[in-house]
Formats: sequence, C-alpha cells, structure tokens
Amino acid sequence: MSTPLFKRSAAWIAAQVRAGAVTPTEAVDAGWDGPGAHWEHDVHAVVHTDREARQSGADAASTKGPLAGVPVLVKDNLCTVDYPTTCCSRVLAGWHAPYDATVVARLREAGAVIVGKANMDEFAMGSSTEFSCYGPTRNPWDLSRVSGGSSGGAAAAVAYGLVPVALGSDTGGSVRQPAAFCGVYGLKPTYGRLSRYGLVAFGSSLDQVGVFARHAGDVALVYAALAGHDPYDATSRPDPAPDVSGWDTGVAGLRFGWPANLWAHGVEPALVDALERSAAALERAGAVRVPVELLPGEAAVAAYYLVATAEASSNLARFDGVRYGHRAARAADVKSLYVRSRSEGFGPEVQRRILLGTYALSAGYHDAYYLRAQKARTRFRADYARAFAQCDFLLLPTTPTLPFKVGEKVDDPLAMYLSDVFTIGANLAGIPGLSVPIGVTAEGLPTAVQLLGPEDGEPVLLRAARAIEVNGDAAKLPRTHETEASWPSKR
Ligand code: GLN
Repeated sequence: MSTPLFKRSAAWIAAQVRAGAVTPTEAVDAGWDGPGAHWEHDVHAVVHTDREARQSGADAASTKGPLAGVPVLVKDNLCTVDYPTTCCSRVLAGWHAPYDATVVARLREAGAVIVGKANMDEFAMGSSTEFSCYGPTRNPWDLSRVSGGSSGGAAAAVAYGLVPVALGSDTGGSVRQPAAFCGVYGLKPTYGRLSRYGLVAFGSSLDQVGVFARHAGDVALVYAALAGHDPYDATSRPDPAPDVSGWDTGVAGLRFGWPANLWAHGVEPALVDALERSAAALERAGAVRVPVELLPGEAAVAAYYLVATAEASSNLARFDGVRYGHRAARAADVKSLYVRSRSEGFGPEVQRRILLGTYALSAGYHDAYYLRAQKARTRFRADYARAFAQCDFLLLPTTPTLPFKVGEKVDDPLAMYLSDVFTIGANLAGIPGLSVPIGVTAEGLPTAVQLLGPEDGEPVLLRAARAIEVNGDAAKLPRTHETEASWPSKR
C-alpha cells in the first residue's frame, strides 16, 4: 500500500490535484473519513464544521493554485463566511462573520478548501485550550495531556492527520507552543507580514496569524500564499514579503546563536537533549554554533502580561451586548445590560485579563505599569538586535516542559503564563519564530526546539528547519510525518 492521502503533504496533494489525479473532494474526505472519524471523537480539535460547507468548498476550489484542493482548518478567531466565528466564547455564540479574513480569502484564492474552525482558548487567552467554552482539545499523543494553546485545536488536527496544514494566531506563543506539544511545525511570522484583517483582536501590537504543518516545505508554501500587503490592515507592511522558495537550500556557513543561559535551570532534560540534537544536525549541515546571551524570559512574561492585557481590555470593550453577540435577558438599564452581558458571556480567564488590563491603564497606575512595560519591550527588541549582530538565527527551547496534564495548571494562572517564557519575546520584538518538531521521548511525547530570526528572517528559519528535518533523527518524527515519501520533488 502506498502512503495514505491523509499522511501526505499539502505540496503533494496540490500537485496531484493540479495533475487531475486527486479531486479536491477526495483530498478533503481523506482526513474526515480516515483518521478523522475516530481521532476527532477523543481529541476534539474542531468546533464548527459541516459536510455541506466542506463539499461546496471542494466544489468551488480552484484546481490550479499552489494549494489546489488542500484542506485547511482555521482557528475560530479568523472570520469565515461559511462557518460561525465565536473565538470559543459564549459572548459570540452563533455569530457569523459577514466577510472572510484576508488570510482566509487568500487561502481560497490559492485553491485551498476551508474545512472548519479549530478549538482554542477563549479569545486566544491561554496556553492549553482548556479555556474554550466548548471544552478542551486533548493531545493526540497522550489523551490525558493538553494540546497546548491557545491554538490547540489547529495543532492537534495537523498532528493526527485531519488536515495537512492549519492556521492559528500567536500573540505570545499560541502557534509555537501548541506546535511543540503536538509535534508539528508552527510559524509565527514577522509582525505585519500576514494580514490581521478579520482576525478577532486580542493584543493588536502582538497578534500575528501563524501556520501549522507537518513539513518545513508546507510552512513555506502556505507562508508564500498568505504573506503580502493588505490595505485593510493599517499595520500590514507595504514592501514585498521575503521570498521563501529557497527553503531547501541548506544552512552551510550560517551562524546560529546558542543562548545556553536560558536553559541553565528549569528546562526538562528531554528538551535540552532536543536542543543538542538539533545543534548537531545543523552543524552536520555546515552551520556554525555561536554562544550568545539573552535576557531571561521571565521579564518578557511580566512585560507581556501588562501590554497584552491592556490592549485586550480595550479591544474587548466592543462586546457590550448591544452591537454583537450575547445580550443578557431582562436588563433594567444600559449599565446593567453591559455588566450582565459581559459577566455572562466572558469566561474566567478573559474576565481576569480585562480586570488586569483596565487596572494597568488606569490614570494612577499607567506610568508605573503600562509605561514601564513598554520600556521593557524596547529593551527586549534591543537585546535581540544585539544577538542578531552576531548570528543569523537563534536556537532555543519552544517550551520549558513537555505537554502537561489536563487540569494541571488550569487553576494556577502564573504557572500557565510561564509556559510561554521562551515564546513571548518574539511577539514583544515583532520578529519571526518557528517551532520545529525533533522526535519523541521514550514515553512517546513530542519534543521540539524553537528558531528565532531577525525581522523578515523567515527564509533562514525555514532553511534551518529543513536542515534539522533532513539531518536530524527523521525516524523518530511523529507518526503522521512521512517526510520524504510525502514530498513531491522527491518522488
Ligand atoms: N499564552 C499566552 C496568553 O495567554 C499567549 C496566547 C496567545 O499567543 N494568543 O496570553
């Protein structure tokens, strides 16, 4: 038997669809009728889908584009005309966007079929997908563990083979961290490269749409289809996006920074081992290791939770029971309509963020908290700039731990926040980051490393990820990865 369709890369599927050997309907059904049918029941990656919408998507799909017939799941905070968009919040229950997010429209133009919406932490606030009003997404590698978050549904669906690629959003790590926990690639691009138009805002100066895939080349394929200026997003960069077509050209002569001070304490040994194995793979491919030092991530977490909550408190003011979503019954006056609609509609973590952010922005505390956090943010930007003067990209952990147990951190917000200690800095600085899967532990849990680059460093990050993919321990890659067999140019 040849490799089943659901294990194939997006590039392979698109090539077959363009050649007329596979239809978009077959490509879409491969996930749903293959592993999807039994995995989804346990994992719960998808919150909105419907057979008719999938079928009309497949019927309408272009069989010419770079993503011809490729099924894609998108996070439930990206607007879609054919499925509800709820951010997994009661406040938006049943809401249908009247337009597609720009990234969704670009997927469709490239020939992709949107097959549904992925589970997430409510309004993307969380690191485990346990704060979804629809219940958690479980880790396909171990159902007693979390998928990571907040884009846990998108990561898990790619991992178990429902779709070859998916979109999430990353404000402080929400693409890279679940990618690490689920054993797939997760790219957070440079701020301003992928449009935020139609992405429901959380922390607008930090939010970026990101890409999940099982192959470095598929990340490049989707990035190339999505990146580029969008006049509907005022923070979208007007100049052309970097060309990632050289993702398979190797890393000979590139220098990678090795900030070992970051993992001197408190990082799981299996993840330190993953770093060593990745560094060895890069060195075998001709890259050079350069020791560097970086500011510790704890300070980034502190600054982030002031900036992100401040922006969230302002962005979420629009959910007032008047304009959108949930409206409390029998409110006596306008004020009680606001209070009751918001109290009933928002879950506990979102309410905590709104309180924190409102406090940080209040007249008496603005300078002490918000302003100081902005100054810390500037220091992190400068720290990365100093590091990138010495190297082309950085190799560091994505997370300090392996996927944790469902329920383990849900009542301890600070422990949950610290699971982003290695990812948040990239959002503060606006630089790109890519989580790369690097095998599984003896217990069968995925391990990962993170690559960070300077602004527009995506081509270098993808070259490095590919070098790790081919020079690393491919036999130990997660079970749905069939890297070489899946890649069209290698057949
Ligand atoms: N876990 C972080 C938070 O809860 C980041 C979330 C995200 O990137 N959307 O804010």
